[in-house]
Amino acid sequence: MGVAGFVPVTDWGLFPEGDRPFVVAGPCSAESRQQVLEAASALRDAGVGVFRAGIWKPRTHPGGFEGVGHDGLAWLADAHRQTGMKICTEVGSADHVRACLDAGVDMLWIGARTTANPFQVQEICDALRGSNLPVLVKNPVSPDLDLWIGAVERLMDAGIGKIGVVLRGFTTLDKTPYRNAPVWEMSTRIRTRLKDVPLFVDPSHMAGAVTYIKELSQRALDLGACGLMIEVHPNPEKALSDARQQLSPSQFAALKASLRVRTNTSSDGEYLRSMEELRSSIDDIDSRLLSLLEERMRVSRSIGALKKEHGISILQTGRWESVMEALRKDAESIGLDKKMVEEIFSVIHDYSVKAQE
Ligand code: PEP
Ligand code: MN
Repeated sequence: MGVAGFVPVTDWGLFPEGDRPFVVAGPCSAESRQQVLEAASALRDAGVGVFRAGIWKPRTHPGGFEGVGHDGLAWLADAHRQTGMKICTEVGSADHVRACLDAGVDMLWIGARTTANPFQVQEICDALRGSNLPVLVKNPVSPDLDLWIGAVERLMDAGIGKIGVVLRGFTTLDKTPYRNAPVWEMSTRIRTRLKDVPLFVDPSHMAGAVTYIKELSQRALDLGACGLMIEVHPNPEKALSDARQQLSPSQFAALKASLRVRTNTSSDGEYLRSMEELRSSIDDIDSRLLSLLEERMRVSRSIGALKKEHGISILQTGRWESVMEALRKDAESIGLDKKMVEEIFSVIHDYSVKAQE
């Protein structure tokens, strides 16, 4: 399906004028009316326009706090009345969507576990058809770009135009300091495939701990995210879910004040001149790299022909290992990242082998 036509976030009618980054903040879960109102009023005072709180919580293990359910919708509506903030929550089923539409919720998000399930996403989309509600789609738990894009496509097919994607990190086998590995390349990839899709980042679920939230938030903005979804609880130690990663309102205010937003361009003459020069150097280098690659592939094909003529097998692992070892050494001596060089040459080698088949 076509993927044109994302409504710009500034036209969603949710975020205060000039508010950059667009911030959605609030507790992981709505726990009581008082906790919701306390969190909302602190966040309104910190200049946040959109309040989040989960009321149906998808917990990995049974027996945890699974959310307060429908009662929480009334608390969110109270928060809206008392603070004027827009309200949003997570939906995982058609029932949830219908309840949110009835309660006047302003935005929904589809959680990481739900995005991974096309049946559930489709039922949510069918329930949303005909509404004009903005929806944020969190990345699925595994780094599967098509699954993530598929959920966005289902929403578009249901006529929803106000769609944003949220990078909240991924479950990976490799241990990282984070609860969910950011895999920042996924943000570039989704924005390349879904042109102009608004990108939000959820540093809270990436981090899993308060310590990393600042660096992840700033990195997100540096990479061009337009918004952040951040968990804030009036009393984080007492939180019924995700206690380690929720900021207190004062920690949140300090974070917000520290964030620096980069713009897309500048009218500064010096900047424009330098940038043009550097970009033209890059274009020149790329074109040299390309002709070198072409030359390498030609030589590789000749090697292939020679091996064939003499009945020699294509893959010579010993030779490849020594080439790689030499490249690693050279890379190191000229200050290039070994891993980068390894990755690039592995791809080149794969194509070389293919060209010799
Ligand atoms: C949440 O936002 O509280 C949540 C459950 O997020 P995720 O789906 O990213 O785990
Ligand atoms: Mn949470």
